[in-house]
Amino acid sequence: MQRRDFIKKVGVGSLAVGSGLAVSNAAHAKAEYKWKMVTTWPKNFPGLGTAANKLAALIGEMSGGRMRVKVYGAKELVPAFETFDAVSRGTAEMAHGAAYYWKGKSEAAQFFSTVPFGLTAQEMNGWLYHGGGLEMWRELYAPFNLIPAPAGNTGVQMGGWFNKEINSLDDMKGLKMRIPGLGGEVLKRLGGTPVNLPGGELFTSLQSGAIDATEWVGPYNDMAFGLYKAAKYYYYPGFHEPGTTLEALINKEAMASLPKDLQSIVLNACKVVNLDLLSEYTARNPAALKTLVEKHKVDIRRYPDDVVRKMRQVSREVVAEVASRDPFSKKIYDSYEAFYQASRAWSDISELAYLQARDHT
Ligand code: CA
Repeated sequence: MQRRDFIKKVGVGSLAVGSGLAVSNAAHAKAEYKWKMVTTWPKNFPGLGTAANKLAALIGEMSGGRMRVKVYGAKELVPAFETFDAVSRGTAEMAHGAAYYWKGKSEAAQFFSTVPFGLTAQEMNGWLYHGGGLEMWRELYAPFNLIPAPAGNTGVQMGGWFNKEINSLDDMKGLKMRIPGLGGEVLKRLGGTPVNLPGGELFTSLQSGAIDATEWVGPYNDMAFGLYKAAKYYYYPGFHEPGTTLEALINKEAMASLPKDLQSIVLNACKVVNLDLLSEYTARNPAALKTLVEKHKVDIRRYPDDVVRKMRQVSREVVAEVASRDPFSKKIYDSYEAFYQASRAWSDISELAYLQARDHT
């Protein structure tokens, strides 16, 4: 009984974020801080866009209505790929997106979203929160007047949607594919043409033949865009995005203008959403995969082993090259690489060994 009372008092049940906990209109009227959050996602897009909504709702709830954050979908206030600049100059106080979209600002930003053949979601969280990653991320964004925070993770993504079979490395040549970040650079070195497009443009680009293939996220998100209607084959694994961290960006002056408790609320709300979104993908992807296979008759294919091996080799080269371009990138790479090597030794006899034991012995 005592434990139940305790749970009631601290409201553990309310950790189901965004579930009917809207701040009252009276509290809204009294909000002392009204922020805008621009995003790289279509408004209310399942998982990605709704995570941004949850983050805004949580900040409102946790602050008792002292803060109110209004969320804007891509293009509502600024285009998807201008959100970084918008928060940097203070047009909006916050953004929700992914760090690999900002490689034009700094190539090293890509380490904080995902690295081909790099860390998984759980390992990324280990590196960011307890392995020095987040401190370096903050240092990297400080000159842009921005504070970053992990705010979601997709887990392992799918390789993508293709209209031709990938049977050998030759099939990657000439392939025009939407694939952002370092994965795009890997495709380029295999003779393909990577392009980056916001999610909202994928379906029409694939259907019209403007691109030959696209990756997006995984079954849950890809089904929402109807990508199965525009491509024949759905390849795995998503070597290029093994556990993509999504990010919240916060304008430095806007953050400094908040009292300490609200600063903590903003950062901790990001942390809640970081966990919540990974949990959502873990729950929704299996059901969506079943629907894609059974209802929509999607042809699921595994990349051939020699293609995977080559992509792994090229990925290692690409990542090392990014690291060699400037001293700060090298510092981030060294930290990431050290964590990766140590993590592999442990993952091999924990997660990997367990999953193999569970399914194959
Ligand atoms: Ca992706």
